Amino acid sequence: MSKGTINVSVDNIFPLIKKFLYSDHEIFLRELISNATDATLKMKHLANIGEAEGVEYGNPIIEVKLDKKKKELRIIDQGIGMTKEEVEKYINEIAFSGAEEFIEKYKDKNGKDAGIIGHFGLGFYSAFMVAKKVEIITKSYKDEPAVHWTCDGSPEFTIEKADKKERGTEIILHIADDSTEFLEESRIRELLVKYNKFMPIPIKFGTRTETLPKPEDAKEDDKAPTKEVDNIINNPNPAWTKQPTELEDKDYNSFYRELYPMQFEEPLFHIHLNVDYPFNLTGILYFPKMTNDMSIQKDKIQLYQNQVFVTDNVEGIVPEFLTMLRGVIDSPDIPLNVSRSYLQADGAVKKISSYITRKVADKLKSLFNNDREGFEKKWNDIKIVIEYGMLTEDKFFEKAQDFALYPTVDDKYFTFSEFKEKIKDVQTDKDDNLVILYASNKEEQHSYIEAAKEKGYEVLLLDSPIVAHLLQKVESKEEKISFVRVDSDHVENLIKKDDAQISKLSDEEKETLKTFLDGVIPKEKFSVQLEALDSNANPFIITEPEFMRRMKDMQKTGGGGMFGMGGFPEMYNLIVNTNHELVSEILNTKTEKKKERLVNQALDLARLSKNLLKGEELTTFIKRSYEMIK
Ligand code: ADP
Repeated sequence: MSKGTINVSVDNIFPLIKKFLYSDHEIFLRELISNATDATLKMKHLANIGEAEGVEYGNPIIEVKLDKKKKELRIIDQGIGMTKEEVEKYINEIAFSGAEEFIEKYKDKNGKDAGIIGHFGLGFYSAFMVAKKVEIITKSYKDEPAVHWTCDGSPEFTIEKADKKERGTEIILHIADDSTEFLEESRIRELLVKYNKFMPIPIKFGTRTETLPKPEDAKEDDKAPTKEVDNIINNPNPAWTKQPTELEDKDYNSFYRELYPMQFEEPLFHIHLNVDYPFNLTGILYFPKMTNDMSIQKDKIQLYQNQVFVTDNVEGIVPEFLTMLRGVIDSPDIPLNVSRSYLQADGAVKKISSYITRKVADKLKSLFNNDREGFEKKWNDIKIVIEYGMLTEDKFFEKAQDFALYPTVDDKYFTFSEFKEKIKDVQTDKDDNLVILYASNKEEQHSYIEAAKEKGYEVLLLDSPIVAHLLQKVESKEEKISFVRVDSDHVENLIKKDDAQISKLSDEEKETLKTFLDGVIPKEKFSVQLEALDSNANPFIITEPEFMRRMKDMQKTGGGGMFGMGGFPEMYNLIVNTNHELVSEILNTKTEKKKERLVNQALDLARLSKNLLKGEELTTFIKRSYEMIK
């Protein structure tokens, strides 16, 4: 047996390790299993290239063993193992000098996001975050005696011969008193599932009972025979590591269920990512059914590095609008020991992000081209992602012109250019602007939609929460186009043509009417406008100007507020149709009181049709209506 001192200048590095990584002790297991996996894969490589003569690679597994009584956790592999010289070199010198460097690097990083994010490269000594003593028993594939290394957390270690016969390494952690959670089977299982679910070497944790088929001569009451088998916790060959040609839709769907066991709905479609130049990246992204609430659907994409789980926060790596998707991304080229802000500025990461955007756009385009009907059916479930992408990424906006759909209130779907072509004859106004009418709610805007359709106009149904922002963007990109919501003006005024209606009232009568109305109708809520409309159109119509309403909508979903938060006045236009019979009647009624009653009743009806009549005003309206029909 020999003794030595670990080559570090700090007196005792372990308290430092513990302190620095306090919040994330659990990653020790991921690190040790990663080492075991590396050692096993190295063995495979050596066997493949014929470097390890006389060595059987076989079907190696990694075993995690828990002994609660002895307070021990073991990680056992059948990898290349280490000779005495290698233990001295890799564990004593390199590892611990690495630790010193590591701590130097992260000790004093002030500023935003300072600290450790990826935790990679932490390696073997992360064991000391949870163990008061660590032993390594290892036998190299080379014909040399096994070695037993022990270290109790001080910079001193012992190294001696061991009698281990099989090739590989066994790490024994004597769990510290403040880390006994890692002696709980459920806690270890949770960690294995979180970090190692898709690692490339099978990982055994305990055994499980498997039911075998009954023998042919068994009687009906006989119990089926059972057998204890290794409980393998991972799937070493997850779908994303395979070629798209090897997989069918059902394989993608079952992998989705493997990723999200609690998710019962099938994904709408998937995108298989696979590049090896100029960076390495594989993965599968899924489009789930989306709701209009964007915030709750984030953080479902998992990031892996060579099949080791890293995080489910892919912000900065995937463009924001795609964080609403699900699935996995695996890349060894994403730097993990850096802050988010650094990550966003990193050249490789930028390339990855734009590659993913392009792949998603290409996939959507091919779905649109190959099966337009199917794409239209899915549109409402995916539009939020696409619209959000169009709003936030210019490149995506351009690509999306080919497949982004604009549905009408009658469930017909057009691309933007198809729609422009369709409406250009009827919906171009006197100044040569193409006016695109839309509704945001079929029920609430029913009467306005009907009026527009009556005039031969097409009405789009655009109901995403971010639509106001998106329309603003489309208007700025296109020439002579404006979007106008159907209820923003009377139908005659939505698309202004030259043919003005003739008014039944004289200028003098109009003057009298206007003065009277201004006295009765609350000025702070309505701005009264007399218009000579069709005599069949309603007498009183409330509209909300497009500009005001859109600014309000935009403020609700962030940005666009020039009046500050909540600073928008509730202001509507009240259009009074001077050609309607009722309006003449109001004018000609003699008693002031009766006149006022007619105006209030008409105003309330107009409010009612715009969903604006509530509370006390509604009660008054109902009372007045009963009196009028008495
Ligand atoms: P890293 O894995 O980042 O190189 P570690 O501190 O985890 O750093 O490990 C240092 C070295 O010790 C490894 O590079 C490897 O050579 C050796 N080693 C660690 N664990 C094992 C193992 N289970 N089997 C064989 N060698 C190992």
